[in-house]
Amino acid sequence: MSTAPWQREWQNAIRHPASLLKRLGLDASLLEPATRADRLFELRVPEAYLQRIEPGNRHDPLLRQVLPVDAESADSAGFGDDPVGDHASLANGGVIHKYRGRALLIATGACAINCRYCFRRHFPYADANASSGQWAGAIDYLRADPSISEAILSGGDPLSLNDRRLSALSEALASIPHLRRLRVHSRMPVVLPSRIDGTLLEWLTGTRLTPVMVIHANHPNELDGRVADALQRLTARGVRLYNQAVLLRGVNDDAATLEALGERLFELGVQPYYLHLLDRVRGAAHFEVDDATAAALMRALAAVTPGYMLPRLVREVAGEPWKVPIDWTRHAPM
Ligand code: SF4
Repeated sequence: MSTAPWQREWQNAIRHPASLLKRLGLDASLLEPATRADRLFELRVPEAYLQRIEPGNRHDPLLRQVLPVDAESADSAGFGDDPVGDHASLANGGVIHKYRGRALLIATGACAINCRYCFRRHFPYADANASSGQWAGAIDYLRADPSISEAILSGGDPLSLNDRRLSALSEALASIPHLRRLRVHSRMPVVLPSRIDGTLLEWLTGTRLTPVMVIHANHPNELDGRVADALQRLTARGVRLYNQAVLLRGVNDDAATLEALGERLFELGVQPYYLHLLDRVRGAAHFEVDDATAAALMRALAAVTPGYMLPRLVREVAGEPWKVPIDWTRHAPM
């Protein structure tokens, strides 16, 4: 099978701190801490994403999401390896069945980019990866539970698998009579938009299952022309698009940025859906925005945003049967 353009782009992603600093003309003093933190969770950024980072700007909000820093080695109370309880929810063959009616398949541990705040940075993918068992266990699990109407492909990033495997998986899922929707959670349309090619659209929209994609953008600067084209290819084929963002200190923790993000998403046919409070994963405490500040941001955002464009502020809590909504109207104004 020949290598698709997106696979070549992915293979050529920057994976060493020194290369990243050189490519972006950043200060050499960042190298030592970046090298230390890279040992905890390796750096990975594709060129398509790098092109949206301002050269020489160490405070660029996109750079902050990918540059390893010393703060990642700090031990912070309340931050652990499995903040959302995924290890405990793992049912069978890489399936996480936390919410009624929906089951999530950990399709792969790989991603096109490594986001420093990622809640799965310590997840034991080798044990939990459905692809290692060729899907059989996961498919059996879904087939045996008629209450499940939606299969969610997650990871890692499920779109880092090749289309041959994903096509086989979507066909197997479509053969389960009680499934109605195929939902894909992916950051690929944002970080590697060439991934949304004709072959992907074939399997994603080629079965009886209604295709839904939840993308992950945190900042309006992430949504450049190539991303817009990729999203347009999806909407043109009837894929319903939603966005989940994570509220991140130093990235998008101001109302103007969140407003611009929502406007841009909506312009591109994407519903701003969730704004997540940070999952308290070890190594990411420096990204946390406290509840009171998050509530104040939501108040400011609600004052300038139509209701249909306002994301829901939520937190994932281990053991809860849904994402817990944060009632920001009850927090006193700051
Ligand atoms: S793309 Fe998603 S799963 Fe992958 S590192 Fe980023 S946040 Fe984590």
